[in-house]
Amino acid sequence: MAELPVTFIQVTDITRITPRMARVTFEADHLDDSVGRSPDQQLKLCFPRAGQRLPVLPEQNDDAASWYQAFLAIPEDERPWMRSFTLRRRVPGTRTVEIDFVLHGDTGPATGWAGSARPGDRLGMVGPSAVYARPVSLTDSIAAADWLLLAGDETALPAIGTLLEALPKEARALVYIEVADHTEQQSFETAGDVTVHWLYRDGTPPGRSEVLPDAVRGAEFPPGRPFAWLAGEAGAVRALRRHLVNDRGLDKGSIDFSGYWRFKLTQDDAPTSEDMAEAQERLAEFQAAADDHS
Ligand SMILES: Cc1cc2nc3c(=O)[nH]c(=O)nc-3n(C[C@H](O)[C@H](O)[C@H](O)COP(=O)(O)OP(=O)(O)OC[C@H]3O[C@@H](n4cnc5c(N)ncnc54)[C@H](O)[C@@H]3O)c2cc1C
Repeated sequence: MAELPVTFIQVTDITRITPRMARVTFEADHLDDSVGRSPDQQLKLCFPRAGQRLPVLPEQNDDAASWYQAFLAIPEDERPWMRSFTLRRRVPGTRTVEIDFVLHGDTGPATGWAGSARPGDRLGMVGPSAVYARPVSLTDSIAAADWLLLAGDETALPAIGTLLEALPKEARALVYIEVADHTEQQSFETAGDVTVHWLYRDGTPPGRSEVLPDAVRGAEFPPGRPFAWLAGEAGAVRALRRHLVNDRGLDKGSIDFSGYWRFKLTQDDAPTSEDMAEAQERLAEFQAAADDHS
C-alpha cells in the first residue's frame, strides 16, 4: 500500500448520532484491505473550496514528504481545505467507511460541510496512514502496562470508540470523556473491563472548561503502571500530560498524546512554540518506537 493513499469518497448516508455529532457514511473509490483493521486510524479529509464541486487532490505519492510538497504545489486558491479525522469504522469487506464529525458551529470548513452534507457529496481522503502518528499497539501497550487511561473530549470519541472496541478481554481501562452535556453520551461495545466517566461542560464553551483535567487530577488510579492515551483541545491535553508526568510520575514514553484542535486557532494557523516543542517530542518518541521494532 502507498504510505499515503489518496482517494475520493462519496457520501451515502448521514445520521445525527447525538445532537452535536454527525456520522457520515462514505463509499471510497479505492480502499486498501488494511483500512479499518486496527484502532485509532488517522486520516485527512480534503474539502472543496467555495465554487468547487470537487476538491483538487494532489497526485498519490509513496513518499509522505513528496506528497505534502505536491499538496502545497496546488495553487493556493484551488488548494483544498485539509482537516484531520479518525476512521470510526470500515464496514468489513466493503469500501464503506464511517467518520464522525463534531458539529461545533459554522466556523470551519469541516464542521460547516458536515452540517449541510448530502448524499452524493464528494470529499478527498488521504490515508488512513501510520505516517500521521505512532500507531497505538494495544497489545504492546497493555503488555507493558497494567491498565489504560483514555482521556479526551468529543473530537477524541471516534478514536476512543475504536480503542475500546479493540480492547482484549479483561484489559482494564479507565476513561474520561468531556462533552457538552448528557445528550452527547455514546455507548461502546468492549470486551475489556472498562469504567467510563462522562464529564459535562454544561454551558462552558469547548476549550475553556477545566472539567477534564480536574477530573483526572482528582481520580483515584488503580494500582500498577498505566499507559495513557490523551487527545482533545491542545491546552487541555497539555495540562493532562503535565499532571501525569509531574504529579503522577508517569514516564513520557507511556503517554500517547495529541492536541486535536486549538482554541481560537484553525488547523491552517501556524503552530505555536508549544506545538513545535511537542511535535519534536512526538517525533523523537516515534523514532524511538521505530528503532525498538527494527
Ligand atoms: C489525529 C486527529 C484526529 C481527529 N479526529 C476527529 C474526528 O474523528 N472527528 C472530529 O470531529 N474531529 C476530529 N479531530 C479534530 C478536528 O480535526 C478539529 O476539530 C478541526 O479543527 C475541525 O476543523 P474545522 O474546519 O471544523 O475547524 P477549523 O477551521 O480548524 O477551526 C475553526 C474554529 O473552530 C474552532 N474549533 C475547532 N474544533 C473545535 C471543536 N471540536 N469544538 C469547538 N471549537 C472548535 C477552532 O478553535 C477555530 O476557532 C481530529 C484531529 C486530529 C489531529
